[in-house]
Amino acid sequence: MMFIETRGNDGHKPEKVAFSYAILNPSASFGGLYIPETLPQLDADFFAKAQTQNYKEIAKTILLKFNIDIDTTVIDKALALYDNFDNANDPVPLKQIEENLYINELYHGPTRAFKDMALQPFGYILSHVAQKQKENYLILAATSGDTGPATLDTFANKPNIKVACLYPDGGTSDVQRLQMVTQEASNLKVLGIHGNFDDAQNSLKSLLASESFQKELDKHQVKLSAANSVNFGRIIFQIIYHIFGYVNLIKQNKITVNAPFYQIIPSGNFGNALGAYYAKKMGLPIKKILIASNINNILTDLINTGIYDLRGRTLLQTTSPAMDILISSNVERVLYDKFGATRCKELMDNLKTNRFYQLTQKELALLQEDFAAVYSDDDFAKKTIKKYAEKNYVLDPHTATTIKAYDALGETEIPVIACSTAEWTKFAPTMISALKEENKKYNDFEALRDFSSAMKIKIPGMIQELFDKKIVHDKIVDQEQIEQEILHFIKG
Ligand SMILES: *Cc1c(COP(=O)(O)O)cnc(C)c1O
Repeated sequence: MMFIETRGNDGHKPEKVAFSYAILNPSASFGGLYIPETLPQLDADFFAKAQTQNYKEIAKTILLKFNIDIDTTVIDKALALYDNFDNANDPVPLKQIEENLYINELYHGPTRAFKDMALQPFGYILSHVAQKQKENYLILAATSGDTGPATLDTFANKPNIKVACLYPDGGTSDVQRLQMVTQEASNLKVLGIHGNFDDAQNSLKSLLASESFQKELDKHQVKLSAANSVNFGRIIFQIIYHIFGYVNLIKQNKITVNAPFYQIIPSGNFGNALGAYYAKKMGLPIKKILIASNINNILTDLINTGIYDLRGRTLLQTTSPAMDILISSNVERVLYDKFGATRCKELMDNLKTNRFYQLTQKELALLQEDFAAVYSDDDFAKKTIKKYAEKNYVLDPHTATTIKAYDALGETEIPVIACSTAEWTKFAPTMISALKEENKKYNDFEALRDFSSAMKIKIPGMIQELFDKKIVHDKIVDQEQIEQEILHFIKG
């Protein structure tokens, strides 16, 4: 399987690349992205077999269908990382919470956010490819909370890879910060930044554009790469759990093979939703993919009106920070898939130049064949958290947005699967104030303790331990100091 480019080819980059190339060099011509030339198909035989298989076996079958240039033994080792999840055979348990609503719990990995589903195996594969090519890579990451911990965890002590991770000081939860600053591996560098997430991201961008920085990296034979959510090496693993959710539904006798279902996805950068879209194109009978957003509802606008408009919009802070996004990068892959490279480039150029694009009515209709969208606010999230806590089901503020989409569907006989993207433990202060209907400021430690005792649920060991771990990365720096700090780390 080869990979091509969303904005067409510029005559300099290769026109088609292998998977290993696409994951090490994720930026394609004209700032576009790599996409698979074709998608493999799931047939009746696949679904029959899948019902007797565990997650790793199903994942392997799907990955082999993609025919990527990664040895089977490497794929096996990458998938073995799911053994570190709460239940190795069923790393993504499917829980019924309403007559026809099922939650696909994607957060049972080491950092308690769904980012682990893709980053765990991806980290292993990327390191393997770097070793095979005898190259050393620096991965730069800027995080508002969940990506940082998951990226650091997967690359800790991995050969030929170093990671430098920037986070906004005071801009993450205590748990998220501790997950990063207590990481001991010597190939990891974590820096707090004076400023907010935008500042962290801008620092990263200016670093990527800095000639002096590039020169120093060259001198030390270090190449730059990115493990952000547009990397196809992550997307490929995000197709699998949607298929597994459906297989779980079949196994639980809630649906028959080929019968349709709705898929709801709490979305930000659209990686999770793109995984569902590809799964649908491969033959998973998703009737519609419902995109749930918070009040940063740019995806709701796009899907309902065909207009993507950044003008006059500012990013709003919510209690679902991993969805506080206005530039949703993976949408580009759907635009390519629906409208082709020429139109995709035109739309993305418009967005860059005019901060705006508009689909034609015909294009909008094509988009709406697969997608619908709904958003909700923090107040809805709080009420929803409380409502389900009273029914003894705990959902985090991101997952709460899916309930709005479920309500909007109205009565339906068709089963609905909603993705749960984080464990409550990452957002404990929001959880406890939702439960108690109060606005007292809790720190994470108190909130974890009080919520777990109120709900009589355990705090997982890896979260509890964080508060006793040694802080390894204690530097908070100004933006001007970042380059020097990272170069120092590279040389050291
Ligand atoms: C990253 C993240 C999201 C958004 O996922 P995308 O694939 O970027 O759309 C939603 N919820 C949580 C908890 C996340 O960490």
